[in-house]
Amino acid sequence: MTQPAWLANWQPQPTKHRSGPQVAPKAAVQSAPTKPKANYQGFIEPRMWPQDGGTRREPVLDTDLGRVVRYVGWRKCMRCGQLFWSEDVLRLRLCTPQPNRQGCRSRQDDDGI
Ligand SMILES: [Zn+2]
Repeated sequence: MTQPAWLANWQPQPTKHRSGPQVAPKAAVQSAPTKPKANYQGFIEPRMWPQDGGTRREPVLDTDLGRVVRYVGWRKCMRCGQLFWSEDVLRLRLCTPQPNRQGCRSRQDDDGI
């Protein structure tokens, strides 16, 4: 079984045709330096900011899903009215135990609802 002369020097070359599955370029290394880094859960979560009266809300991004999964911010406890840092302002509505006082969220009811 001999190769024709024209094929003897032929080497497979990377092709640019588009019929095959496209391999997305790996962009992980070149991601924008200003972009916040995702934590070990794959979330980009804003840092706690100083107490602001409970108006500001910042989204938490899930980098795997590419969407906002929850919002963090200061909010008033439904029971005692104290401002507390909520890692999910839609679900956590009772204050969490603080170093200087007991929170309204009981140990049996840790979703705060
Ligand atoms: Zn409370």
